[in-house]
Amino acid sequence: MQHIEEQNDIKKELGIDPQVKIVGVTKNRSFEEIGRILERGQKDLGENRVQELMAKAEHLPQWVSWHFIGHLQRNKEKYVVRMPQLALIHSVDSLRLARKISQEASRVQRVIPVLLQVNIAREDRKYGFAPAALLRELDELDKLENIDIRGLMTMAPLQQDPEEVRPFFAGLRGLAGEIKKKQWKRLKMEELSMGMSQDFKVAIEEGATIIRLGRILFSNKEGA
Ligand SMILES: *Cc1c(COP(=O)(O)O)cnc(C)c1O
Repeated sequence: MQHIEEQNDIKKELGIDPQVKIVGVTKNRSFEEIGRILERGQKDLGENRVQELMAKAEHLPQWVSWHFIGHLQRNKEKYVVRMPQLALIHSVDSLRLARKISQEASRVQRVIPVLLQVNIAREDRKYGFAPAALLRELDELDKLENIDIRGLMTMAPLQQDPEEVRPFFAGLRGLAGEIKKKQWKRLKMEELSMGMSQDFKVAIEEGATIIRLGRILFSNKEGA
């Protein structure tokens, strides 16, 4: 681990508190485009497809920390779990998947940092635990020895006005607060991964510790 404060020009440009971690979402971006954000001090990158993640991790510098942010399909867990540069899986969206990741991780003697994805707006087509179901399954999740549950993640519904998604971000923070009230053996609620290009400011106001930025990192500064 590096202890010096990392230089990140993107945080300065966007006026983001140095404490908040930016994950640069590189899906569909060329190596040339990604190279430019690495030059601006961006070290954490995220992908939502396993194949793209593996291909990019292979060709980009080994010091990049990789985040998996998409739905992890059956039988692809093993590839992600074995990646040396894996920093965090944001998108554990079921107990079944959590068990599978823990099982794969135990085979390679790793403990994988993860977040639990919550479908906070209860949208039909979105992955994630429904809040009530999550609360019921926490005892089982807390038993899994080869995952390190660090917090929650959500994808808010797309809205023109970021103020409309504020209640969902506040809802995720509230849910984490509720979970924290109980003593857990392993499970922690230190991270909230929420907010994307169009709503990251509101997400940070509501307590995001990690934001996932795609478009805004790759658009012209003036055009954003
Ligand atoms: C694409 C993506 C993002 C980034 O979205 P932008 O609107 O481009 O900032 C964030 N999170 C997830 C899970 C994504 O798939």
